[in-house]
Amino acid sequence: MNNWDSFKELVLIDKKDVCDTIKSFYFKSKNGEKLPKHTPGQFLPFKIKTNDPKMKEVIRTYSLSDLPNDEVYRISVKKIDGGLMSSYLHNKLQIGDSIEAMAPCGVFVLDESLPKDTPIVLLSGGIGITPLLSMLLANAQDRNIYFVQAVQNSKIHPFGNDINNICKENNLKNTVFYSNPLDTDQLGKDYDVQGFVTKEWIKDNLPLNSAFYFCGPPIFMESLEKNLLELGVPQDKINYEKFV
Ligand SMILES: Cc1cc2nc3c(=O)[nH]c(=O)nc-3n(C[C@H](O)[C@H](O)[C@H](O)COP(=O)(O)OP(=O)(O)OC[C@H]3O[C@@H](n4cnc5c(N)ncnc54)[C@H](O)[C@@H]3O)c2cc1C
Repeated sequence: MNNWDSFKELVLIDKKDVCDTIKSFYFKSKNGEKLPKHTPGQFLPFKIKTNDPKMKEVIRTYSLSDLPNDEVYRISVKKIDGGLMSSYLHNKLQIGDSIEAMAPCGVFVLDESLPKDTPIVLLSGGIGITPLLSMLLANAQDRNIYFVQAVQNSKIHPFGNDINNICKENNLKNTVFYSNPLDTDQLGKDYDVQGFVTKEWIKDNLPLNSAFYFCGPPIFMESLEKNLLELGVPQDKINYEKFV
């Protein structure tokens, strides 16, 4: 897809449940052209038309959650009650339907100039997993990554098994936080730590000379940034993406 500088049509080729309220959507180009490969961390803007005369179209962005490739784009979307685009994707868009999207964009990507031995910490909260999963998939084999996933409980724990497997295969440290475990959730099996990612936990479990990348709810990111700065992590090693 050359000169993809405005909206083009993608076709939905598959739709899969990830966990409660989150589905993955798989798209190909409509005319069979190759897709531009994304850099892990980047997103696609999507556009839909509405029947509302005041708001004729809606544009929302979704991070690519899979390995970069030129055949299929995967996004993973949390359904927001009353949300225009997320409800459209979950409820209306069917396999074979087209949707308008722009080429991958965004600057929340790993710093390529980091020395290979610099540890990388990827921290996600909730649906903020999507850009970080793509970064993990693309870099698990040749980077020293510490992966941290914070969710409420096993009901809404996207890609937990995939992340566990990638980290095991590549001997990477993976820590799962449940803020509100279910009665059936087992500490040590389903999750590693109960509660939130605290300053103390960071100090005791993560190398502070790492480059940090995180994405999640605003309160999660504000607290992480504050804690990292207080622990002496330089601002230029702190990177995050806001989903707003
Ligand atoms: C760079 C970037 C990447 C993103 N990547 C992803 C992704 O990979 N997966 C994903 O699911 N989303 C992602 N988002 C968020 C996404 O773009 C939409 O904002 C989200 O899907 C809600 O859009 P909507 O049209 O369904 O809801 P809207 O119609 O915009 O909102 C409906 C109502 O829900 C409230 N609301 C909006 N967003 C949220 C929220 N997150 N939580 C609670 N209430 C909310 C609004 O205040 C409003 O009252 C990303 C956003 C950005 C900026």
